[in-house]
Amino acid sequence: MTIFDKINFPNIFEKIGNARTVGLQLPDGLKYYVKEISEEFEKRGFETIISGKASYGACDLDTELLKHVDVLVHFGHSRFVDTPNVIYVPYTVNYEINPEKIKKHIPERNIAIIGTLTYAWKFKEVKKILEDAGFQVELKSGRGVEFEGQVLGCNYSCLRESKSDAVLFIGDGMFHATGAGIYSGKKTYAYHPHSDEVIEVETEDFIKKRYILISKAKMSESFGILVSSKPGQFRLNLAKRLKREASRHGLKAEIIVADEITPEIVENFRFDCYVNTACPRIAYDDTRRFGKPIISPQEFEISIGLKDEYVFDFI
Ligand code: SF4
Repeated sequence: MTIFDKINFPNIFEKIGNARTVGLQLPDGLKYYVKEISEEFEKRGFETIISGKASYGACDLDTELLKHVDVLVHFGHSRFVDTPNVIYVPYTVNYEINPEKIKKHIPERNIAIIGTLTYAWKFKEVKKILEDAGFQVELKSGRGVEFEGQVLGCNYSCLRESKSDAVLFIGDGMFHATGAGIYSGKKTYAYHPHSDEVIEVETEDFIKKRYILISKAKMSESFGILVSSKPGQFRLNLAKRLKREASRHGLKAEIIVADEITPEIVENFRFDCYVNTACPRIAYDDTRRFGKPIISPQEFEISIGLKDEYVFDFI
């Protein structure tokens, strides 16, 4: 199966209707195919303009391009922010799970299943398979996501008030599984369908590293509070509140707004520490790339004594 078998072009054309000019926005991994994708639109008489912007999530709409086209087709992610004239084309993969392997590694029998869009689209079927294997499976809808059990790096709301004894993340990598473990406070496992591996998630190490940064923040006197202007990441009110709190605690803080929050953006500033209100993954995943400590809003609150318990950042 190729990428073109996965894209339901007739369905997209129907949604576009009478629009003439179509913007195409794709995540980096799919940009490779844009020439062929654009040709499909042009064959149908649409004029296309391709977004060169990064596209890390559905939070990352190219709103500038949207001003110059009738419709923006955003590939790879499901709806996150309600914006008129945007059509989302999620990217999913087909996969199988091995219920016996999962059963062998997970002693709890009452589990919540979660995963990113790529895997969550099939969770109704996965739930049935796991139930047939003897699990009691919780599959709940989260806020602002398309599929039950779907999580984002900034949104684990499908686990809110979970009654399960453990959480099973199905998908790739460990970031979302770690986030789910911290968010839910429950024993969490990651199952990677491609390698057929079950891993028990370890959150202590992650939290320990974050506390090292919190202790650096405690020694800092000036803070740059970073805000992204991307529609789904724009948390200016939060930044303003943190700035007021900094001032109440005798600290100097300024708000810095940029589209993309990168190490290059901050390198010319002279703050001791940065507080990231943009995509939470920037503070968690990219720490090493920044020359100065970069912490989440909640970590800043811990550093000034407003919070005791460690919590994950979410949007
Ligand atoms: S804010 Fe970050 S984690 Fe959330 S959808 Fe956007 S890119 Fe993904």
